Amino acid sequence: MDIRDRVLVVEDDKSIRNFFRTVLEANNYDVLMANTGTEAYSLVTSQCPDVVILDLGLPDMDGTKILKNIREWSAMPVIVVSARTHERDKVEALDMGADDYITKPFGTSELLARIRTAIRHARAAHMGPDGMQTGIYRSGALVIDYDKHRVYINGEDANLTQNEYKLVSLLGRYGGKVLTYDFIIKEIWGPNMKTDNRILRVNMANIRRKIEKNPAQPQFIFTEVGVGYRIVDPD
Ligand code: CA
Repeated sequence: MDIRDRVLVVEDDKSIRNFFRTVLEANNYDVLMANTGTEAYSLVTSQCPDVVILDLGLPDMDGTKILKNIREWSAMPVIVVSARTHERDKVEALDMGADDYITKPFGTSELLARIRTAIRHARAAHMGPDGMQTGIYRSGALVIDYDKHRVYINGEDANLTQNEYKLVSLLGRYGGKVLTYDFIIKEIWGPNMKTDNRILRVNMANIRRKIEKNPAQPQFIFTEVGVGYRIVDPD
């Protein structure tokens, strides 16, 4: 018998709840449902789900309150699902510790991919100290070699500068996940760096010239407009 991953869905809209249940059960997840923030609290603490899918607009409280509460004691992956499309809301949720953010409406395959990524990250975080990544990150023609500190495209060295390498390797460490501008800048240039997206954009433009076939239509590193960057899922 295989052990199923357990997903807690916190959502008050009936048709969306049904959609989640159908899709997740068809893909061999154990599904728990919470209608309200209060129910979510009790299930999160009693059932310890592998991943939480969290709607922000709940009848009894704002979903960000639950996210904040979970982050006080747990690193369990939380994927925020919301109809709010404002970039500010996405940035806020991600900076508050959400692992990912999906905007309604979204497709089944996107949802499943985000869940797999979130669970994989949670497992990887248990396996080694963060920041001491070793080994290889591979997605198609793109290879990040964490031991040699090099990035290769089709087997050829992309000749990234130090900061460009740091940026790509950071994205690779969180493969498939959106990292906010603020998070990236603090990780690469330190906590005292004033948040200035321009330096990041310049670096990203240079990276894309080196690794993308067509920098205007990137295949490896995607811009989440107003939010940050995401590198393609590893193979
Ligand atoms: Ca709602």
